[in-house]
Amino acid sequence: MSLPPIDTDYLLQFLTDLLNTPSPTGFAHQVIARVEQALSGFPGLQVTHTRKGALVATWAGKASGSPRALTAHVDTLGAMVKEIKSSGRLKLTKIGGFAWNTVEGEGCTVFTRTGESVRGSLLLTKASGHVHGGQVNETKRDDDTMEVRLDARTASADETRALGVEVGDFVAFDPRLVVTDGFVRSRHLDDKACVACLLAAVKALYDANLQPAQTTILHISNYEEVGHGAASGFPPDLAELVTVDMAAVGEGQTSDEFHASLCVKDSGGPYHHGLSQKLRSLAEEHAIPYKVDIYPYYGSDGEAYWRAGGDVAVALIGPGVDASHSYERTHLEALVATTQWVVAYLLS
Ligand SMILES: [Zn+2]
Repeated sequence: MSLPPIDTDYLLQFLTDLLNTPSPTGFAHQVIARVEQALSGFPGLQVTHTRKGALVATWAGKASGSPRALTAHVDTLGAMVKEIKSSGRLKLTKIGGFAWNTVEGEGCTVFTRTGESVRGSLLLTKASGHVHGGQVNETKRDDDTMEVRLDARTASADETRALGVEVGDFVAFDPRLVVTDGFVRSRHLDDKACVACLLAAVKALYDANLQPAQTTILHISNYEEVGHGAASGFPPDLAELVTVDMAAVGEGQTSDEFHASLCVKDSGGPYHHGLSQKLRSLAEEHAIPYKVDIYPYYGSDGEAYWRAGGDVAVALIGPGVDASHSYERTHLEALVATTQWVVAYLLS
């Protein structure tokens, strides 16, 4: 059978909504609500939250004897206020694994305890070339040499506190989304791109009046970037888990921005051979553009479930994303390929 068409306008619009909703790990409730709202447009999906804040939607299949799950994460890299300096500027602590130089100069938002937000930007402490000369280039970027300059009149810790800013406030970096000729350039395509692919797959089946072959759980994880996102939230009789997360593009990799990738091994070791083979066969059968790859510095939510004791087959697919955990970019072709792959799996 041929696959139902993918609504690419819907996919890109929903992805735009997700990217423009800040969600550093631990502060993902707004984007979780946005996904829940989107899922509510598909009657028949039973949507619940885990206590940890993940979203779990259950979709009844033609059969229910061997339930499956797909997981993708909406939390992103970000930071938290570690200290308010005597200058009124902020020292941060990172949330997730990234290098400070990848966010240097980026706009950011600090979310205060009272629900206010304060804008600012992340700079080197010795940012001005006219003041610090060669030190701008030579200074090592670390927690001590990076700081937030708030867009507010403050020159002391007290004045910053008067804005409502405190230690422990979450900080989100601007996504800086630009779409050009099918290229989608933004921070946090990891993994909002795949959440948008999941929703576009659901819409493709609904639009075509189709039902998944097996009862399927859609798990939207909110703690992936710190390693334990999908460690919980699945039914005990789950048989298979397909993690949908970005593919690592770069030197030595087969992945690119125009294909979906099947990851057969990453830092956590090999994925489930049988389930990986099944996904490969589905891609061949439906002429889905795909690559098979190995990611050298990478862990996934599927492995988080394995480590937590999940006794299921786990595999990993996703669109190629260039410059991951930096200023990321993919192409609509990779997003469509990933969505088609999810659709093929749901119907298989
Ligand atoms: Zn990810």
